[in-house]
Amino acid sequence: MHSVRLRGREEPIAVGKIVCVGANYGRHVDEMGRRLEEPMLFLKPPTSLARDGDSIPYPAFSTELHHELEMVLLIGEAGSSIAPERARGHIAGIAAGLDLTARDRQRRDMERGFPWAVSKGFDGSAPVSEFVPLTGDLDPDDVRMALSVNGEARQRGSTANMLLPCDRLVALASRYFTLLPGDLIFTGTPEGVGPLQPGDELEIELESLVSARFFIAPAAAR
Ligand code: MG
Repeated sequence: MHSVRLRGREEPIAVGKIVCVGANYGRHVDEMGRRLEEPMLFLKPPTSLARDGDSIPYPAFSTELHHELEMVLLIGEAGSSIAPERARGHIAGIAAGLDLTARDRQRRDMERGFPWAVSKGFDGSAPVSEFVPLTGDLDPDDVRMALSVNGEARQRGSTANMLLPCDRLVALASRYFTLLPGDLIFTGTPEGVGPLQPGDELEIELESLVSARFFIAPAAAR
């Protein structure tokens, strides 16, 4: 079962679809040279999940694996066409995550007009920490996050800089996809994406809330 943990809850939560948001931080949009009228959406399969402590095989079809540090929302209540004012009631928790991307494959597929399914949906491309319940005074639009690689600071950001805040993201995603309990939303990456190597040890955190570690293993033989 592909599942995540919500702090304070005994049983793991089975994950359904993983909705990801691209181009939700101005400076990352600038570094990638894309300008969009609204953040774009794409999906990862539940098999892309990895959890705290996991080893993630470097994708065998790529030589340019990139990290994208992102806050992740866990949906706790079903809904479609959710109004922004009601969105918060649909979010059960938040976690630190990585939208791992085979950048070389993504570039090639974009040139051909192909989707991002392979470059962003391969096994292990969605590592997430434990989820922290979204209780009263925790503001998901004011969370600082950080990634270090082999103990060195690599990417930092704050969800205060998102172009669309969490309630608008839930509204946007639920306009196209009915959201169900156990679905995840990756909220986009700030600037500072960059390459990873086999043997790298990664630590991601939402500051003062939660952290998790992952390892990049050599490509699995195929
Ligand atoms: Mg991303």
